Parts: sequence; C-alpha cells; structure tokens
Amino acid sequence: MSNTRKRLVMGNWKMHGSLAANATLLDGLVSGAARAGDAELAVCAPFPYLAQARDALAGTQVSWGAQDVSIHAQGAYTGETSAGMLADFGCVWVLCGHSERRALHGETSAQVAAKAASALAAGLTPVVCVGETLADRDADQVECVIGDQLDPVLALGADAVRRLVIAYEPVWAIGTGRTATPEQAQAVHAFIRRALEKRDAGQVRILYGGSVKAGNAASLFAQPDIDGALVGGASLAADEFLNIAAA
Ligand code: PEP
Repeated sequence: MSNTRKRLVMGNWKMHGSLAANATLLDGLVSGAARAGDAELAVCAPFPYLAQARDALAGTQVSWGAQDVSIHAQGAYTGETSAGMLADFGCVWVLCGHSERRALHGETSAQVAAKAASALAAGLTPVVCVGETLADRDADQVECVIGDQLDPVLALGADAVRRLVIAYEPVWAIGTGRTATPEQAQAVHAFIRRALEKRDAGQVRILYGGSVKAGNAASLFAQPDIDGALVGGASLAADEFLNIAAA
C-alpha cells in the first residue's frame, strides 16, 4: 500500500507558559504556519490554557490538544480531566503515556491504553507515547520494552488502533539534548510499523520525539517510517518549531 501519511509536527509545551508568553507563541505560530507546507501543525497545551489555544487557533491550520486525560468519563476524581471536557475545548489530540507521566505518576501501559480508549470515545485522537530507557537499550531490550508498552493499546482492536497516533520517544533523548540517530529511530519505527501492520493499521502515523530541533529534523524526517515529530523544548519558540515543521 502506498504511503498516504501526512506529516504531523506537534508541540508538547509540558508545564511551561503563561497567558502573556502563550499569546506571543500562538501569534507566531499562526502568522508563520504557512512555512510548514503540507505538514500538519499542533500544540498540546497545559489544561488551563486550552481556552486560550482555542481562541487563538480556531479557524487556523494549527490544531490543539492536551497532555493527559482521565480514564473516567466523570465522577469523584478530584484533579482529573475527562476526554469530554477536552472535546468541549475543541481539542483534537491528547498525549497518552508520555514518559514523564509514566515515570513521575506511575502510569502503567494498561492505564495508558484505557486513557487512549476514553479519548477515542470522546472523538479525540490519542497520541500514545512509548519509549525505552537507556538501561533498556544497553540491555538490548528495546523491542521487548516497546512491544510490552504497545500490547495493551493494540488489544483495543483494529478499529481503535487505526485512529491513533504513536510517538516513539526514547526516554534517554527527552530533554537531554541527545537525539537518537536517524538510523536508531528508524529501526524502532519500523518495528512499531510491523506491529501496526499485523493489526491492519499500517497507515497509523508514528512520530519521533526526543530533543528534535531544526538542525536534526530533516535527517529524521527522511526516514521511511518517521511521519513527524513530537517536540518538547523546541516547541516553546515559534520560529524554531516552524523551522522543524519546514524541514
Ligand atoms: C517531549 O516532551 O515529548 C519531548 C520530546 O521533549 P524534548 O523535545 O524537549 O526532548
């Protein structure tokens, strides 16, 4: 089957921003979005800023989403945010199982799959993040670890899996300035692609994330199974983010 996958470049603002700083950033994204050419642009903002993102981005070619979602639709879950609430604010995307959530909040792969299911039920597109630690890589366990992270998500069934985006983010490359080589990233993307193909979902987009910058984006995007990027630090400056998208 030919590749119909549209490139997607998504910013993860993490817990950064303020009303004033976001206004400048969003304005820069909207005014420079044409530089992304055919690539799709998106940002994942902290919950309190989703209304600001919606107000600035509605009707533009930049879409927006959130960085986490509850597995529950509603109820006594203080501090949590449901997928329906995110949909109310026009979110298109939600990150599920970012490595910082897995490491700092103990999210399991089963919970990540449940989050993806609750996002799908509300009409959002989950961006399911997977990735190995440096210890996993040194122990030659990359495929085993990624496979275990993917299994509960793939068990949601082909119809669900076809509606996902996957982000491969080696933990050792996130926020460290250390990027996987294009060949290292491609090898894992190809492994993920094969797992998706077995579920009849080979056209799912697989993003790479981990210290992506304008200077390394082109060589990553040249790989056959890398369909775009999930960008943390470099998404906080409109110019750098747009340079990545233009790569
Ligand atoms: C991320 O937060 O998903 C990420 C990839 O961060 P950074 O680009 O800063 O490594």
